[in-house]
Amino acid sequence: MINDIMARLGVQQADWQGGELCVTSPVNGEVIGQVKVDSATDVEAKIAAAHEAFAHWRAVPAPRRGELVRLFGEALRQHKADLGALVSWECGKILQEGLGEVQEMIDICDLAVGQSRQLFGLTIASERPGHHMRETWHPLGPIGLITAFNFPVAPWAWNAALALVCGNSLVWKPSEKTPLTALACQSLLQQAMVAFGEDAPTGLSQVIMGERDAGEQLVKDARIPLISATGSTRMGRQVAPLVAARFGRCILELGGNNAMIVAPSADLDMAVRAILFSAVGTAGQRCTTLRRLIVHESVRDELLARLKKAYSGVSIGHPLEGALVGPLIDADAYEAMQQALTAAKAAGAQVTGGERQLAERYPHAYYVSPALVEMAGQTDLMRQETFAPILYVISYTGLDEAIALNNDVPQGLSSCIFTTDVREAETFVSALGSDCGIANVNIGPSGAEIGGAFGGEKETGGGRESGSDVWKSYMRRQTNTVNYSRELPLAQGIQFD
Ligand code: NAD
Repeated sequence: MINDIMARLGVQQADWQGGELCVTSPVNGEVIGQVKVDSATDVEAKIAAAHEAFAHWRAVPAPRRGELVRLFGEALRQHKADLGALVSWECGKILQEGLGEVQEMIDICDLAVGQSRQLFGLTIASERPGHHMRETWHPLGPIGLITAFNFPVAPWAWNAALALVCGNSLVWKPSEKTPLTALACQSLLQQAMVAFGEDAPTGLSQVIMGERDAGEQLVKDARIPLISATGSTRMGRQVAPLVAARFGRCILELGGNNAMIVAPSADLDMAVRAILFSAVGTAGQRCTTLRRLIVHESVRDELLARLKKAYSGVSIGHPLEGALVGPLIDADAYEAMQQALTAAKAAGAQVTGGERQLAERYPHAYYVSPALVEMAGQTDLMRQETFAPILYVISYTGLDEAIALNNDVPQGLSSCIFTTDVREAETFVSALGSDCGIANVNIGPSGAEIGGAFGGEKETGGGRESGSDVWKSYMRRQTNTVNYSRELPLAQGIQFD
């Protein structure tokens, strides 16, 4: 099965068989690939190749660069079924979500193609006669990309599509848990480069295989002006000071701890559906997963009763065979979940669900029933991101209190309110409301569209990716003052003669 998929995606066997890095599918615990790990010398050579490719690529006109991304988007459309299935096999998310991830890649390619004709600068009024002022945007350099296991391909594409049209080359260090999907993306991009022709230098896109040390080598390299890193807050804490020490730039997309406020006027039918998708989807392994439910005391009992019913009907199983909830990534993730549930029980919480499932059928895979954890109040346990399907439930009496609870965690990625009261909705998205990068009304916290800027505040890292004006992060800004007169007036009226 994997053999056929990899062959159709054009990945050479030597790249994913016979290497030192064992790739284990969370679906059944079986080894599905053995990828060659890059030595420090290999990493150095790949960074050097990307650096050299940049020198050529930056001179290709931006709309022409957009053509490469268009061709890549076409390759993704053609191979969506295979790449989506590979995502499911490698990181365990259900096929619908695997396909959704590839669709996000296609969507960002479309956006980037349009953007390639809109890398707009400014003209600025000069205070001096016979002078023009302009602000222009130039390519930045080879962009370093570090990605997490749970979204193995889309965040790379959010960065790569924009970085390419902005005139940059790429060096990607994917998660060591999901290298096969990275090889597949690289293969499709290379096919697009062949179709594009000789304007695309061979070293334009590099993939580095390895663990943390390979990532650190990339992060420390002064030839990489921008590191865009997606992963845990722990990783961001290590990466940010290393990049700052050499005055590089970072886009950090780190952990989330996302809440939903359910107000008395909420449409509970909609709220239940939104909670189910955002709390149990991807087995609770999205950065935007709903982890905290802040429900008004007047609707708490009814909502909880409906949720328990909905949770009991969720199908857990093989992600490519129609289940709604697939496995956790590995045994460590299962252990972390059990530890959090044990701590919650010790603090007096009432826990529904959370047990291991299908252990007899899949002794080396970790399926769990999603857990609902009723807490008396928001504790330190709830302030941590446990990357598993645990939904903590607490109640509130007034909106100010609910917003304070929403904001009282170290992370600031996504948030939402379910209400039909326009005052509450507008307050939640106002300066006095949610402190997160994403604040939604009557929509769950997960499942963003690529048109908006994606990212979060506080320990989520402050980075933004995808739409809006994010393209500017992949370029360097230049201010030009051009004197077309025969005089040399100084700014601020300074006389120097
Ligand atoms: P992780 O931090 O363990 O690993 C992420 C990547 O960082 C991997 O490629 C890893 O090899 C690399 N890495 C780790 N330490 C490094 C270091 N010191 N220097 C350089 N590279 C290093 O995260 P994970 O377990 O793969 O993913 C889950 C986490 O990612 C969760 O916390 C989740 O919230 C977060 N995440 C955030 C977003 C977002 O957009 N905010 C999206 C997806 C996942």
